[in-house]
Amino acid sequence: MPTERPLRLFFALACPSDLAEAVCDWRDSQEVGGRPVAQANLHLTLAFLGNQPADSVEGLKQLAAKVRVDAFALRLDQLRTIGKDFACLMPSQSPSPLNQLVEQLHAGLSTHGVMLDARPFLPHVTLSRQVHALPDIQPPAFHWPVRRFGLYCSENTSSGVHYSELASWPLAAPGR
Ligand code: ATP
Ligand code: MG
Repeated sequence: MPTERPLRLFFALACPSDLAEAVCDWRDSQEVGGRPVAQANLHLTLAFLGNQPADSVEGLKQLAAKVRVDAFALRLDQLRTIGKDFACLMPSQSPSPLNQLVEQLHAGLSTHGVMLDARPFLPHVTLSRQVHALPDIQPPAFHWPVRRFGLYCSENTSSGVHYSELASWPLAAPGR
């Protein structure tokens, strides 16, 4: 019987294409340096699951469908390096619905037996990697209306890393 390969999975917010274009245009006009992230790959990771059996996807979809969080606005207004020299856009304030979304996913994943990284959640959108000396730049505030989140599979291909969306879920209209 063929055994399916594990999938490298993460829950994330995919950056809307018009915002990704504006962010990448701005990044490319500044001397951020390093290895730029492809425009189509801009995202904010909510929970990184790592390698999971392919047959876990159905259960993950069921737990994500139980998330109840209002849509929200994210304001990306800081540029910093984090981790291994990743230049990232970050919000100076993490909106409470974003924190609730992460908490609900993490709680669901823990009851599902998925071990997550012990580091606290740090909302960020990676713009470029291997940035050893980030210039001190104040970005314009990028406004991101967040209305959906998704489950993604990351694959390394000959043309670079590719994320495919396995499913996505709407956030609730506020006040409903
Ligand atoms: P590559 O590693 O091939 O250069 P990538 O980092 O974009 O590409 P993945 O390593 O599959 O792809 O990661 C997918 C997303 O999950 C990225 O946003 C990455 O920063 C995040 N991520 C990866 N490892 C962890 C981790 N241990 N904890 C939290 N987030 C992680
Ligand atoms: Mg990686």
